[in-house]
Amino acid sequence: MQDSLVKLSNVSFRYGNTEVLKDITLAVERGEFWALIGPNGSGKSTLIKILLGLLKQDSGTVEVFGQSISTVSHKERIGYVSQKSNSFNSGFPATVLEVVRSGLTKKTGLFKRFTKSDTGAAMNALREVDMEMFASRNIGELSGGQQQRVFIARALAAKPELLIMDEPTVGVDQQNSASFYSMLEKLNRDNGIAIILVSHEIDLVTDLASHVACLNRTMHFHGGRRDFAKLNDNDLSRWYGHSVRLVHQKEGGRSDD
Ligand code: ADP
Repeated sequence: MQDSLVKLSNVSFRYGNTEVLKDITLAVERGEFWALIGPNGSGKSTLIKILLGLLKQDSGTVEVFGQSISTVSHKERIGYVSQKSNSFNSGFPATVLEVVRSGLTKKTGLFKRFTKSDTGAAMNALREVDMEMFASRNIGELSGGQQQRVFIARALAAKPELLIMDEPTVGVDQQNSASFYSMLEKLNRDNGIAIILVSHEIDLVTDLASHVACLNRTMHFHGGRRDFAKLNDNDLSRWYGHSVRLVHQKEGGRSDD
């Protein structure tokens, strides 16, 4: 059997004396699409930072690609898009193509010249997010949703095995966020890229994902979306600490159900 992409076992983390994550266990396998949901302050970003190696857990183990996170260099294999990516102002002096190509500096080094194949990889990545026609435009001229697609392409250019996104649709209007999510679904389905998507849009993302993780300091639920769909609003409201009502929007859900 192949190793999990990510495997957390009994992970706990404190900022000072405040325990933010307690006894977290989670395994993400190749090709899976995980929605990581939970209220504000529930520890979602902290968990992502641990997965990216930016914070170190106080106890428990974190493995990425089958090795302990402390021993393995995995930067190229995980693409990360933060919620603040889409905030370039109109004067920012870089084209869309340049922004996407800069995602290859992990492989090429910051001061190495880009090759034709780097440009080809960047254009392919732009095509995957339906943005190739914007390649020569200035990044600051694009809408928040379009910029966010460009940042996905930047992460994809390095051909990661796992794409992690923290609230990527913050500041993106509802219609554009729906088409953004269907683009992610296509990436996952057609390219087999595994995704961890942190979002507060519970209904949208839990209909989209193959798996759901529900975090509020402890992991209240993690499993397949069909098991998640069997939960009732009371379960979720208890975990969230306030009333939550699930409205499943897509009858029948994912096409691979
Ligand atoms: P979420 O992403 O679910 O909103 P976070 O992981 O950002 O949650 O935060 C979890 C808790 O940890 C919150 O109570 C937050 O205030 C606290 N926290 C986050 N970052 C820090 C930090 N650098 N120092 C101290 N406390 C922090």
